[in-house]
Amino acid sequence: MANPFEFSDELGPEKVIELYDPATSLHAFLVVDNVAMGPSIGGLRMATDGTVEECFRLARAMTLKNAAAGLPHGGGKAMIIADPNMPRADKERIVRAFAYAIRNVEDYIVGPDMGTDETAMAWVHDVIHRCIGLPREIGGIPLDEIGATGFGLAAALDVAQELHDFEIDGARVVVQGFGSVGQHAARFLCRRGARLVGVSDSRGARAYADGFDVDALIAFKNAGQSVAEFEAGDALERDAVVDIESEIWIPAARPDVLRADNVARLNTKVVAEGANIPATLEAEEMLAERGILVIPDFIANAGGVICAAVEYAGGTQTQALSAIDEKIRANTREVLSTAKQSGQLPRDVAAALARKRVVRAMEFRQTF
Ligand code: NAD
Repeated sequence: MANPFEFSDELGPEKVIELYDPATSLHAFLVVDNVAMGPSIGGLRMATDGTVEECFRLARAMTLKNAAAGLPHGGGKAMIIADPNMPRADKERIVRAFAYAIRNVEDYIVGPDMGTDETAMAWVHDVIHRCIGLPREIGGIPLDEIGATGFGLAAALDVAQELHDFEIDGARVVVQGFGSVGQHAARFLCRRGARLVGVSDSRGARAYADGFDVDALIAFKNAGQSVAEFEAGDALERDAVVDIESEIWIPAARPDVLRADNVARLNTKVVAEGANIPATLEAEEMLAERGILVIPDFIANAGGVICAAVEYAGGTQTQALSAIDEKIRANTREVLSTAKQSGQLPRDVAAALARKRVVRAMEFRQTF
């Protein structure tokens, strides 16, 4: 039989649901891509645009990311088509209506995403008790506060230094995007002897060869200032952060910041991808040709989703950090050593590994 959707393949999607509730004007999509590894986890996005196909692509990315992270979860994604900045009472009604509408879709666990936050997750939890990213008071582990993803990035780099020619101790680190991921990555790496020599945010960049006082810079940034205005070092134009020489370069802002037209400017030894798809495929190939290691996003930045899975299982913050450390170390070792032996891009190795795990899990399932 031909594929029922233009985008479907041997992995999924398993369910594509369009939801409408006239009472609240809820209009939403839910895609459960694959549940062979376990119930799907994926974010609930609220935005004024979005298509079912986009929802499927994001759900598939979650299938592979969860499998690559070694989690007992498949991938799903949901989108409410609405303005996330609507008045709070209206937002609450619409999010609650969404939760009620999916009450019987038991193989989808809701997580926060663009346009939704831990408060929205608390509303979902109140209706169906099937979500992650909750406030601490009702069992949540605040992953941005504890720095789950930055902690995982540092663990990935710790393994990578055993296999490649760089050392964290004494390394110069540059962070593009000094938000939650970037700040914690810098903090964990500096504790291991690295020096933060370049940093940027949406308003500008700053370089300081002696190395910033990371705690002071974090406090400055979180008081609402731009890193470009910090006292030490020199201010640069925002995108000049690409030119700052380093051993470790961490993109932790937006997609596609490294492209064919700027990647040749990068002077570093390893790129540890904190953001999702921060480099185009072409840019990653160009980096590989120059011998610059790229630790791909869905291996390096899986700390957040691992933390969420531990939260869902009722685990503690300490258990979450230990799971992140164990899983990211094992996956980084497997992906980087295979890539080194085979000459493939780490991203291709990671994607193949994830797909293989999903296919293997599918073999254990009963077919009807
Ligand atoms: P955040 O909003 O806390 O921080 C983002 C930072 O990037 C901000 O300081 C912002 O000023 C800066 N920024 C925005 N545009 C920029 C630009 N063009 N140049 C330089 N800086 C820019 O977000 P976050 O939670 O740290 O997430 C960062 C990225 O990592 C996002 O792509 C996110 O999807 C991804 N990610 C986050 C997590 C997590 O646990 N938070 C997990 C996996 C992936």
